[in-house]
Amino acid sequence: MKTKPVLLFLVDALGIDFINHQNMPYLSDLAKNHALKPMTPVLGYSDVQRASLFTGRYPQDIGYWTDFRMIPNSSPLKPFSRLSFLDYIPSDFIRRVIKYFLAKTLSPIQARMTGYDELPLYNIPLRVIQHFQPSLKKSMFDKEPFQSIPTIFDLCRQHEQEFAVVRSDVFGLRHMFSKASSVAKLVSKEVLKVNPNVKLLYVYLHTIDMLGHRYGIRSNKFKDVLLDADQAIKTIVEAARERLGQSLEVAIVSDHGMNHTQEFIDYTYLLKQPGFGKDYIVALDSTMVRLWYFTESAKHRIHSLVEESQHGTFLTPKELSQLGVHFTNSDYYQEVYLLRPGLSIFPNYHSYLKPLAMHAYHPKFKDQTAVAFFIGPELERLTERAQKLNIIDIMPILKKVLGFNKSTYANHQQS
Ligand SMILES: [Zn+2]
Repeated sequence: MKTKPVLLFLVDALGIDFINHQNMPYLSDLAKNHALKPMTPVLGYSDVQRASLFTGRYPQDIGYWTDFRMIPNSSPLKPFSRLSFLDYIPSDFIRRVIKYFLAKTLSPIQARMTGYDELPLYNIPLRVIQHFQPSLKKSMFDKEPFQSIPTIFDLCRQHEQEFAVVRSDVFGLRHMFSKASSVAKLVSKEVLKVNPNVKLLYVYLHTIDMLGHRYGIRSNKFKDVLLDADQAIKTIVEAARERLGQSLEVAIVSDHGMNHTQEFIDYTYLLKQPGFGKDYIVALDSTMVRLWYFTESAKHRIHSLVEESQHGTFLTPKELSQLGVHFTNSDYYQEVYLLRPGLSIFPNYHSYLKPLAMHAYHPKFKDQTAVAFFIGPELERLTERAQKLNIIDIMPILKKVLGFNKSTYANHQQS
């Protein structure tokens, strides 16, 4: 039997709470007529949600979690540690501006020299940058980014089926903060240009995430963001149907919801304790403090200091393992301190601007819940019984619809 083409449409930060008739009439109607499933994300940021979505595996199985890993003194970003004096500029804002400038000028050169697709600097202190490196050398759409664990795109290659990738976040800085309706035009234009024989079309829309962080999810502006994104999704799905035919099977999924930030937590004092960069290292994500210790005394001292902040909890090995983020090495952490919802770490190593809403809290919280919509007889048949999905459930469903079930990667199948 000839398989039908599939649209996998990832809408970043489309939380289940956002879908109602007022804010998102198109999706809300789809929810009435077709299967809308709540979906649990993995613990972490958007990159790892995508990794789990594309592979159908937990982070600990693919060896990938956060976009930066810590391996002492082996970073391709090492030359930037010579600029560590910039860390001592008193204004945090000016520091971030300078780093942004470096990331746009010197980083691309260094990336080319070291064989990386890109080398973002973010807001990592330059005095420890020699220890942090991008966790992936290439894009997740390239061949075998996770070595033996195939992505859905690897399976397309293996089965000699065409796939296409169209993303809204590649149209330059001007469009990073644009409304969905303006990027939808650009995205639809690309969609209408893909090879009409593609079996899998992946589309990514970044606007809800970007503008949710920027305006916060309780602002009136955010309602417009949702309404606008809702129409953009409709436009893009219609463009995909126009290009790939009415038999297109459509999966619209998100990677997490959003939580309103009530208070910003400043942990920069952790970067000023004696021994930082030598006896211990800290990574400040927006919702997590990741720690590595090189001496027992630093471990005792810094662990207590973090614990005293009382903003969250240290995750136990059992919890980490249940969350699918317990690794055999310490590239991602030795300890993880996870914040409570409502709290957001700023300054952190990622954000250039203060995010007024955040994600990557414990996936058990309802506002972190993502969604999956399935439109099309094959997808609906396969998912009709599922009450609730996990983000790792999507890839096996896609595999079935695409007829990739007899994969030669069978030895990696999850038991
Ligand atoms: Zn985000």
